[in-house]
Amino acid sequence: MTNLTRLEAGARSALIDVTGYRVELDLARGAETFESSSTVRFTCTEPGASTFLDVKPHQLHRVTLNGVDLDLTGFDGERIGLTGLAPENEVVATAKMSYGNDGQGLHRAVDSADDQHYVYGHSFLDAAPRVFACFDQPDLKAPYDVSVTAPPEWIVLGNGAATRTAEGSWVLATTRPLATYFFTVCAGPYASVTAVHDGIPLGIHARASLREPLERQAAQMLAITAQSFDYYHSLFGIRYPFGEYHQVFVPEFNAGAMENPGCVTLRDQYVFRGAMTHDEVLTRSSTITHEMAHMWFGDLVTMKWWDDLWLNESFAEYMSHRTLCEATEFTDAWVDSSMARKPWWYAAERMPSTHPVAGSPAPDAQSALQNFDGISYAKGAATLRQLIAHIGDAAFISGVSDYLRSHAYGNAALVDFLGAMERASGKDLQGWADAWLRTAGLDAISVQTVTDQGSITSATVRITPPQAHPADRPHSIDIAGFTAGTEVFRVLTTVDQNETALPELAGRPSANLLIPNATDLTWANIKLDPATVAAAPAELSAVPQAEARAVVWTALIDGVALAEIDPRHLLTVLSTSWAAESNQSIINRVGLVMTQRIIPAFLPHDEQDGACAVIATAAASMLAAAAPGSSRALVAARYLATTSADEDLLRRWAGGEGLPEGLQGDSDFRWVVLGNLARRGAIGAAGLHVALEQDRTMAGNLKWLQAKASEPDPAAKVWAWEQLTGEHGRSNYELNALAAGFWHSSDQDVLRPYVVRYFSDVPALSDRVGEDALARVAALAYPANLVEESTANQSAAALERSDLTASVRRAIVDADSQLREALASRAAFG
Ligand SMILES: [Zn+2]
Repeated sequence: MTNLTRLEAGARSALIDVTGYRVELDLARGAETFESSSTVRFTCTEPGASTFLDVKPHQLHRVTLNGVDLDLTGFDGERIGLTGLAPENEVVATAKMSYGNDGQGLHRAVDSADDQHYVYGHSFLDAAPRVFACFDQPDLKAPYDVSVTAPPEWIVLGNGAATRTAEGSWVLATTRPLATYFFTVCAGPYASVTAVHDGIPLGIHARASLREPLERQAAQMLAITAQSFDYYHSLFGIRYPFGEYHQVFVPEFNAGAMENPGCVTLRDQYVFRGAMTHDEVLTRSSTITHEMAHMWFGDLVTMKWWDDLWLNESFAEYMSHRTLCEATEFTDAWVDSSMARKPWWYAAERMPSTHPVAGSPAPDAQSALQNFDGISYAKGAATLRQLIAHIGDAAFISGVSDYLRSHAYGNAALVDFLGAMERASGKDLQGWADAWLRTAGLDAISVQTVTDQGSITSATVRITPPQAHPADRPHSIDIAGFTAGTEVFRVLTTVDQNETALPELAGRPSANLLIPNATDLTWANIKLDPATVAAAPAELSAVPQAEARAVVWTALIDGVALAEIDPRHLLTVLSTSWAAESNQSIINRVGLVMTQRIIPAFLPHDEQDGACAVIATAAASMLAAAAPGSSRALVAARYLATTSADEDLLRRWAGGEGLPEGLQGDSDFRWVVLGNLARRGAIGAAGLHVALEQDRTMAGNLKWLQAKASEPDPAAKVWAWEQLTGEHGRSNYELNALAAGFWHSSDQDVLRPYVVRYFSDVPALSDRVGEDALARVAALAYPANLVEESTANQSAAALERSDLTASVRRAIVDADSQLREALASRAAFG
């Protein structure tokens, strides 16, 4: 596979300027392929020079340059040489293209509920040439004229407003200049809800089989969209520039969403067919505001090369939480950031793959994709919060507005962003940017106090930079103390020395819980002092601020990951504090990390059932105390259904008897129950098949695959592994479901033979699964629950090989690092 390098991209954008694309797609040619015609007009600064066009066709029909047919013998399947360029040129390429089933290019899915077909385009990061011939790099922007032929019962949506000109014929309005990676067309019998806000036509779309929940939930999504438009318009002083604004919930989408101008695509699990929790609606709302922030930051102004992709994501991550807090009902959105986003990405900083926020070399497009991870999002966003603490909010917003105006419809780099911030603030930011943006790693922060007769006599903040990545990072943090639910002190300070005395704490009463970074302003591994760790079971749930509780939970979870805190102590904190927790982001995320990582990886096999029983007991008491039918009751019921060993209860719930209020007929909840029964070997293939017959939907099919793969007996594992790694034309989502279910069995001898097969069979999937999708499959299929030296040894041996694709290598590096954390914890605590 050829992979555009930064040098090639720089040379090409120095030579040519694209002035327009005309793209014609014919989607009425069956389910396997479509016809694509691309006309590209471009100028050239050096007449007679050469360049190349990117196209990845099923079959290339014809290419003309300035009216002359090009000789296509020797075409390498990816690049077409263009020689003898004129000052003004037109290249026309026609091709038959393959639909994808891995979420890239034009993805085509069949809805098993009604056999309807759906298509959506995903051109990020370098998949546009799977749809149309183009100069595929982010800094060659041009306007698009698109027309689409589709089956007559379909609707068509895209970056420009779509008009149906005849049965099955659609013309999209000419767009503003767009990068190739924004190109999308969505087509199919989508169900739609439309509205207009402040002159902007809005549309929300999903598969026809999701029409009822779509219509029920559209008002909430449209309200968030309208609130966000109002907020961004007032903040940036620049109106949304891309015409209509459509949000299309598409099937089998790899990421959360994609910010295609005018036509955002989002994963369709966000249209909840059953009961939904506050936490789930918050997450969906956060995705909506995140993609909207990109319309300005990313789409109006685009990074010049992929090494600055972080700037798009940091900004959107920061803005979405700020917008939710300031413009919507979700005023607790920063707690969600602390619980749902930061812990995961603190974990990324501990891995060998960690990298600076900015300035990663990204010599080519695919290596840029490998550095596109949580550090780009959560650390970048935390860094922007530190920048705001450093220069002030007014300077930050005025700098952003200046940056957007200066580079509108064009491209920019980090130096342009920093330049705008320096002009707005009057401060030199080079040293700050070197420490925060150009150096990898996570500082540890702790606070030591000396007390005498209930009073603090002296206090010190200690910052310990990681040995591998030394830096002098200034941190703006607050430090708070709580005793029996009362805040006894709070100080806000900026520390930039390894040891900083805090004279302002002298004379304050000592506190049972001492919480550094109590409103989670900075990016650091918070090390709680031993007295605070010991007091957490008794004191944590009484702390009045959710943000401070979230910081403690995250510090405890990180302490377990670093083998500094016994996982059994975390379980004790859960048993006293989880059921009493009022913030649903905390409840849900603590539950997830306990059930998916801490219990299966950090506790010995013979303690895992007992630990699940602790969660089940806490969930049962949370359910009993919650208002029937409330979001809190739903979260509690799901965790009880996930962890309960009471097979009678599970069977009754699976049969629809005695369900908590609001869960009658809820297929998703039923699959949670069935999943637990399947892992216990208590339902069998026939029982699962009956359940599938009762839920012949795409979601039902995936839950069935996952449940079937998780059955403990050897025959189920043989079947699941063959379905995962054999040639069955399984989609990206089906592979994820099989992988997520596979590594469950009370008898680990059933699983052990598959460790060696993981390292042979999963890398081989790269022959037919795109890198975006394979990254997820390889991570989910890794034997993370077989916490044994032999698994680590096999990972190390695999990483010596030269045949792994970048995404498989990255998945193994990261999973191996997490496995070694679990091994270290077991070595320390048994
Ligand atoms: Zn984004």
